[in-house]
Amino acid sequence: MRFTPTELTASELALQTEVRQFLKTELAPGTHEPCLGMAARKDKPFSMKMAERGWVGMALPKAWGGSDRTAVDRFIVVEEMLRWGAPVGHHWVADRQTGSVILKFGTDEQRKRFLPAICRGELGFSIGMSEPDSGSDLASVSTRAERATGGWLINGTKIWTSGAHENDWFVCLLRTSSMEDGNKHAGLSQLLIDLQSDGLEISPIPFLDGSHHFNEVTFNDVFVPDENVVGDVGMGWHQNTTEMAYERGGPDRWLSPFSTIEQLLREAKGTPLEQAVQDLFGELVARYWGIRNLSLSVARLIDSGEAPSIESSLVKEMGTRFEQEVIEKLVQLIELEYSPDSHSLFERMLSQCIVTFPGNTIRGGTIEILRSVAAKGLQGLPV
Ligand SMILES: Cc1cc2nc3c(=O)[nH]c(=O)nc-3n(C[C@H](O)[C@H](O)[C@H](O)COP(=O)(O)OP(=O)(O)OC[C@H]3O[C@@H](n4cnc5c(N)ncnc54)[C@H](O)[C@@H]3O)c2cc1C
Repeated sequence: MRFTPTELTASELALQTEVRQFLKTELAPGTHEPCLGMAARKDKPFSMKMAERGWVGMALPKAWGGSDRTAVDRFIVVEEMLRWGAPVGHHWVADRQTGSVILKFGTDEQRKRFLPAICRGELGFSIGMSEPDSGSDLASVSTRAERATGGWLINGTKIWTSGAHENDWFVCLLRTSSMEDGNKHAGLSQLLIDLQSDGLEISPIPFLDGSHHFNEVTFNDVFVPDENVVGDVGMGWHQNTTEMAYERGGPDRWLSPFSTIEQLLREAKGTPLEQAVQDLFGELVARYWGIRNLSLSVARLIDSGEAPSIESSLVKEMGTRFEQEVIEKLVQLIELEYSPDSHSLFERMLSQCIVTFPGNTIRGGTIEILRSVAAKGLQGLPV
């Protein structure tokens, strides 16, 4: 495990300034309701504007519609977007992980079909990993893909599928052959599935406040052609582990409360903050900066050709715990009757944090699982 201290270079700082300028123009303060990190609204026109600047799929090669930029450049764009509470929901999953998975494991036909459309901000993707009886123990997925003429027939259920009701496609982890010798990791494959396919049903699972984010997706003899298999049949476990390394360790894992805190300060302008609130902010800023720099060093490791899955797991563990503690400590300090219908934007945002943040330490791998990954990695065991 290695976290090397690093700073942004002059050209990276110039990119940061450019993104800040874009945001000031496109989403001037007071003209938009800030989102909570990666749980952002979907706004396809906004995604397409970012794409025009080359900021969606930016680390993908130019040959496939990307910008050949680095993981650190992507870190800078994402950090600014999330700090601002920008509506990045439409391209989020495609930009963070699906594009890289298709580039790494897909065929040239798949790259040609999907990557330029991702980089133009057109396509929205979901993640089809979890099932009713398998989340942490992902290798136990039981949704089956069985051989059919020219492709596969899918039967089973995926759960907690964020945005499936609004997105276009998802990459699903499926069982394409039965467990060999009890080896759960064998016989899994990744398939690209159109969310409008015949036989595919999407049912909402509402959040506590009634909002619709999650879904249950059921497959009844859904046909998927051979050309939609990503990588090699049977290699899904290895590919999926790689995908999860893209999913963890980025700014989305520690920036979710940022826009809420900023809104608090905006609304408190002119009112002196109590000493206890000042002390809390001092503590939070110090922790924030430490986690931010660990996360930045993960991006540098990716650019040096490494796959820092252990470092990413630790950043996600620390970052998402931090996100929850920010809100818990704030609620303890500020005596408020916060309500989702309040006239105060800060109070509405805080209410939303309270309802949705418990999921931050669960999605993308629970903290217990991440600690296991880090512990095994430190001992040199396979993760
Ligand atoms: C907001 C949100 C969005 C999500 N979006 C998606 C999505 O788009 N697509 C998708 O596929 N999934 C999604 N998920 C699902 C998420 O990835 C799973 O909920 C998560 O992996 C945990 O799996 P589980 O719910 O089956 O819990 P379980 O695996 O049953 O875990 C329950 C508890 O037991 C603990 N535990 C389990 N195994 C161990 C172990 N070996 N050692 C120690 N402790 C253990 C866990 O840490 C947890 O605390 C989302 C979840 C949330 C909250």
